[in-house]
Amino acid sequence: MSLIGFGYDIHRFIAGRPLILGGVEIPHTLGLDGHSDADVLSHAIADALLGAIGERDIGHHFPNTDANIRGINSLEIIRKAVEIVAQHRGRIINVDSTLVMEAPKIAPHLQAMREKLSAALNLAPARLGIKATTNEGLGPIGRGEGIAAMAVASVEIS
Ligand code: MG
Repeated sequence: MSLIGFGYDIHRFIAGRPLILGGVEIPHTLGLDGHSDADVLSHAIADALLGAIGERDIGHHFPNTDANIRGINSLEIIRKAVEIVAQHRGRIINVDSTLVMEAPKIAPHLQAMREKLSAALNLAPARLGIKATTNEGLGPIGRGEGIAAMAVASVEIS
């Protein structure tokens, strides 16, 4: 049986934090605010995985009230979601994702992100889509106030 899941996340830009996307630190004047490393892309992907198997979201599995996970590397969150998928006898078929952001350009970092994420997902790099688009200057994302990410995942249950 083949299942799909969807994930969405958004984080606000803030000064004084590194910008981490897909497990990669990207040079920028601002980082994202959050309890973890605020890796919005990894969060959307983890939620897509959990959604595919009908599990609760990452806010449930990684509550932002838990001091032990403050500043956690979000690739760990993905690895945990992958583990939960495996517990459901699931195998990830593919993951596709889109970042919605005005700046910085992420094309130079796509390859590094693909390597980090596919390793955390234990997925062939060709089965992972990472895309980026701007919000055409519209709304909070368009004003450069933050970054949003969306992801879908396909999981085969044996
Ligand atoms: Mg998040």
